[in-house]
Amino acid sequence: MRRDEIIKQLKNPDTSELFREADRVRKEQVGDGVHLRGLIEFSNACVRDCLYCGLRRSNRDVKRYQMSIDEIFETVQTAQKLGYRSVVLQSGENCQYPTDAMCGLLSKIKKEFNLAVTLSIGEKTREEYAAFKAAGADRYLLRFETSAEKLFSKLKPDSSYGQRMLCLQWLRELGFQVGSGIMVGLPGQAEEMIADDILLMEKLDLDMIGIGPFIANPQTPLNDAPSGTLDLTLKTLALIRIVTKNTHLPATTAMGSMDPQGREKALQCGANVLMPNVTPTMYREHYQLYPNKICIKDKPGDCWMCISGMVRMLGRVVAEDPGHSLKFSSRLFRGSY
Ligand code: SAH
Ligand code: SF4
Repeated sequence: MRRDEIIKQLKNPDTSELFREADRVRKEQVGDGVHLRGLIEFSNACVRDCLYCGLRRSNRDVKRYQMSIDEIFETVQTAQKLGYRSVVLQSGENCQYPTDAMCGLLSKIKKEFNLAVTLSIGEKTREEYAAFKAAGADRYLLRFETSAEKLFSKLKPDSSYGQRMLCLQWLRELGFQVGSGIMVGLPGQAEEMIADDILLMEKLDLDMIGIGPFIANPQTPLNDAPSGTLDLTLKTLALIRIVTKNTHLPATTAMGSMDPQGREKALQCGANVLMPNVTPTMYREHYQLYPNKICIKDKPGDCWMCISGMVRMLGRVVAEDPGHSLKFSSRLFRGSY
């Protein structure tokens, strides 16, 4: 799709045809299977000060926690027992876990369980990424948040767009399955910028793309900013499906937090992945990137039941494989892998 066509669709209030086409492309490219990734939010400590995020270091109203390596391992074991074939280890950016400790954890997980492991722990050095890969990490999620450089610098004052892109390049070179994405409805983000984001996603040839509405957090400097809408987020999701074809696309928690039906709607206009929370209940209320996050009182088993029920209700099936990237064969074909 051309940029002007994407912009036209983003501005079009009538979504029925767009959503139908996205659902068709989803079925054709990735089928009816929905991949479940168990999300473990293992620490909310963060050295960064992103303006939008409740975990930013300047937020003194957060009770900080760090799960121990053993606790993280036990949580992964719970996920495996529940039936997950893949887990995502996510945290704020911090140095509480030395690279050696993380690598020890990763190799133990890979040795004992048959699970695909994704990391989502922010910007690191190339050497650290290489060590995680060598220890067994399969995938890495690092959203670029917005491709509008000025907006990026404003919202992430202690990071740089260039560095974020470099990290994504390193991850690709090191052989990770690479996930990235954006927030939709950021203050100052026009539809034209979202169109550029979508085209950048296509260019980066991402294996996974996670997007969600920006949700204003009262404990941040963006407390007064209007939140993004589910409507625009779903249009963006649908367009990403149509443009990037066989990418893994989650129906995210932020979508479900905006609207009780948010994730169901996303599954019907392009999404093929869900990331149920597996974090021990006692920590969940402290991992609030944004307010009113769903499932913070639930236990890991509750989320499995609820989510697998949701998948069946939609006439879809819980996929039984780990849901690796579908991009490898097309890259091989093009000779770029
Ligand atoms: N620290 C890591 C991973 C945790 S944050 C990182 O920043 O990469 C995971 C994602 O949460 C971010 O990439 C961002 O897109 C999203 N997020 C943070 N604050 C948010 C908010 N207020 N509304 C919606 N999404 C938010
Ligand atoms: Fe930290 Fe990530 Fe939140 Fe930024 S978005 S403050 S890096 S947890």
